This record gives sequence, structure tokens and C-alpha cells, in this order.
Amino acid sequence: MSRDAAPKFYRTQVIDRQWLSPATFEIGLRRPAEFGFEPGQFIRFRCDDISGMMEREYSLITAPSDPDIRLLVRTAGAYSSFLGKTEMGTTLEFIGPQGYFTYQSAGKPVVFVATGTGIAPFVSMARSGIAGFILLHGVQTAADLYYEALFRTSALRYVPCLSTATDAAFPGDAFHGRVTVFLADRLPPGEYDFYLCGRREMIREATLIIDDRFPGGRVYSETFY
Ligand SMILES: Cc1cc2nc3c(=O)[nH]c(=O)nc-3n(C[C@H](O)[C@H](O)[C@H](O)COP(=O)(O)OP(=O)(O)OC[C@H]3O[C@@H](n4cnc5c(N)ncnc54)[C@H](O)[C@@H]3O)c2cc1C
Repeated sequence: MSRDAAPKFYRTQVIDRQWLSPATFEIGLRRPAEFGFEPGQFIRFRCDDISGMMEREYSLITAPSDPDIRLLVRTAGAYSSFLGKTEMGTTLEFIGPQGYFTYQSAGKPVVFVATGTGIAPFVSMARSGIAGFILLHGVQTAADLYYEALFRTSALRYVPCLSTATDAAFPGDAFHGRVTVFLADRLPPGEYDFYLCGRREMIREATLIIDDRFPGGRVYSETFY
């Protein structure tokens, strides 16, 4: 499937939900016939609420070859909370696939940088066989490292960046601090291609650091919020 494939309108049903923490869950959706996507792309839900049409985007965390589709969602406001409690079998409408945050292999070492649920597109990429990247994942505690086993096998180097100092389950190779501090102080000099996903502030700050410390590489980004 080409990432330039025109997005289409689909109906799907909720078939599964697994809570990974008190605020974050995976939701499984029946894969509509003929729905295809590339790792890194997202779908957009549309629904009416009292203020009018509401649209919310979620990155796919499954591989394109998987039988169903899954999303990683953190409850934040109205729509994510709705996804967290909607009943099995509920029909949802979405438009997709969308987005250009797909893997463009260019021969340079690749650095993935995620905050929180910004890990989602990289989960799909790793599950699709993309490997050998450096991954910085910024979370509050080690309990938020939901895909550690996947990335310990697919990444060349996996660096959990934890902001909570007193975490009892602090992995031995974790970095204590933000992903941007790791980029500024710890990532060895070199030419890399960077893929940034998550909070707007992280992407802005990381881009400035990359411009300053790592000239010559490309920067791809996906802002979640
Ligand atoms: C391209 C794209 C892909 C996205 N993919 C995902 C995804 O895979 N998983 C996901 O959970 N969200 C994702 N989002 C965010 C998602 O679309 C919604 O914005 C989010 O779920 C909040 O919607 P809401 O109606 O629940 O709350 P709103 O009332 O719209 O937002 C409440 C507040 O929640 C905060 N917020 C929004 N998203 C997050 C988040 N992910 N984690 C923590 N705080 C947040 C913001 O500060 C926002 O002001 C994506 C956004 C974009 C643009």
C-alpha cells in the first residue's frame, strides 16, 4: 500500500480493550475489508458532540499484516475517555489511513524519539520488522514502558528516559531525565535521521538541539498534542 493512497471512510467495531495502566489502554478494532496502511500512519475518528463535529486521530500500533487493528490511547479528555469505556461491539467510524510519518530508510543511523503515547507509530514499525534503530522513550516511570520487550529485541539501543527519580523499578540502562537532555548531552556526535513523535514542546526543543548538534540528518516529526 502506498502512503499516498487516498484515505477512505470506514466503519469498525470495538473487539477488545486492555488496560496497561490506570490511564492508558490498547483498544482492538475489527479491521474493515480493504483497509490498508503503512507503519506510522494514523486513523481519524469523527463523531458529533454538542459543540459540533469532533475529530480525533490515533496512530496504529499493529503491523499492516495483522488481522485486526489496535491503538494505544491515554485518557485525556472526552473522546479518549469514551474509547476507554465504550462497550464491545460498538460501531465507530473513521477515515484513514492518514499521515506521512513513515519510515524512510536512507542508510544513515536512525534515532526514534517518543514521549508517552508518541511511542505508538514506532510500535507499528517495530512489529513490521523495522529494526536497528536507537530509541529514546520519555515516560514518567518504568511502569509506562509498555513495549520494552519488543524494543529490546528490535532496537540497536533502547534508552528509557524516566523523569521520576525514585522509581523502584528503574531499569539499569535507563536515563534519568528528559529525552531532550539525552539528545543534548549523551547521544554521540554523528549524522542521523531523526523521527520525533509526541508532545509539541518536545518536538520543538529536540529540533533545535538536532539543528545545533547533529547537522546533516533529516528530521521527521508527528505532533500528537
Ligand atoms: C496525528 C496524531 C496522532 C495521534 N495519535 C495518538 C495516539 O496514538 N494515542 C493517543 O492517546 N493520542 C493520540 N493523539 C491525540 C488524540 O488525537 C487526542 O487529541 C487525545 O486523545 C485527546 O482527545 P480528547 O478528546 O480525549 O481530549 P481533549 O479535550 O481534546 O484534550 C485534552 C488534553 O489532553 C492532552 N492530550 C492529548 N493527547 C494526549 C496524549 N496522547 N497523552 C497525554 N495527553 C494528551 C492535551 O494537552 C489536551 O489539551 C494523536 C494526535 C494526532 C494529531
